[in-house]
Amino acid sequence: MTEQITTVSAYAAPAPDAPLELTTVPRRAVGEFDVLIDIKYAGICHSDIHQARDGWGEGIFPMVPGHEIAGVVAEVGAGVSKFAVGDRVGVGCMVDSCRECENCRAGLEQYCVKGNVPTYNGLGKDGEPTYGGYSTHIVVDEAYTVRIPDGLALDVAAPLLCAGITTYSPLKRWNAGPGKKIAVVGLGGLGHMAVKIAHAMGAEVTVLSQSLRKKADGERLGADHYYATSDDATFEQLAGSFDMILSTVSAPLPLDKYLGLLRTEGAFVNVGAPEEPVSLNLFSVIGGGKTLAGSMIGGIRETQEMLDFCAGHGLGSEIELIRADQINEAYERVLASDVRYRFVIDAATI
Ligand SMILES: [Zn+2]
Ligand SMILES: [Zn+2]
Repeated sequence: MTEQITTVSAYAAPAPDAPLELTTVPRRAVGEFDVLIDIKYAGICHSDIHQARDGWGEGIFPMVPGHEIAGVVAEVGAGVSKFAVGDRVGVGCMVDSCRECENCRAGLEQYCVKGNVPTYNGLGKDGEPTYGGYSTHIVVDEAYTVRIPDGLALDVAAPLLCAGITTYSPLKRWNAGPGKKIAVVGLGGLGHMAVKIAHAMGAEVTVLSQSLRKKADGERLGADHYYATSDDATFEQLAGSFDMILSTVSAPLPLDKYLGLLRTEGAFVNVGAPEEPVSLNLFSVIGGGKTLAGSMIGGIRETQEMLDFCAGHGLGSEIELIRADQINEAYERVLASDVRYRFVIDAATI
């Protein structure tokens, strides 16, 4: 195709308190290093809902959420070398960064000191608002586009672009693997990927969930053990057990109790975060030389590595495919924790 697409269909929140609706948004012309992506699927991340409802403030409206994008390259700029028309590709939480700072040079673009350009609800280098994946097409620089390997279906691959990399990166950094005991707190969109990935890495995986409601699922996804955190006996029984605890929940947790579950020099790593500050007794980390840490998505190179890992192990997200006109209903169900485990929008319905 040679014509420039400048206006595309999308689902947008027109204002923070309004449901998402069908509209059109502009996409920039395909630049020298850009790819035009024909979006096939877009996952619904919990943070889409936060932002569409302006939970974090300073949202740019109308807002087209979506940072779990899987599609096919429809056009490439003259300088593009990584991709060709027809390639299966993905886009995650960022579409640009400064490319010059220490973090960008180290492949940690998510921590760009000048701030990366988010896939939506941000401003691009051209000063125009960015619009995300609940749309038919998107134009992205090839440097911020990743390849979805053959053998990984695009619908189950889409959520890997946020939920997959957000859990893969800390599991890798804290050496999840054979001989390591990993606990995953929460079995939702992030947690279910953490279980699959940690299991595939060879770790012994325990799910810590509020109840035993999803126990059968957890075990099917790769958990070796499953405990209810509503039961105080869990904290006595598992004291000193884990090399790493990965918390995927956004509810404030009693950190001292959870830190007590770590082995000596174990790490409690947060990828979910409550909106309010939390408190803890620092003796909970001093005794046992423990680490309280955080992690945010992953860099572009590592996102590619994650996709290759998932393809190699046959891992995709557990999804519920929806039409675009079901987005608002899906949001309510996500807020009610009524999804196993990720809604994915079929972009053909936009
Ligand atoms: Zn996300
Ligand atoms: Zn940078």
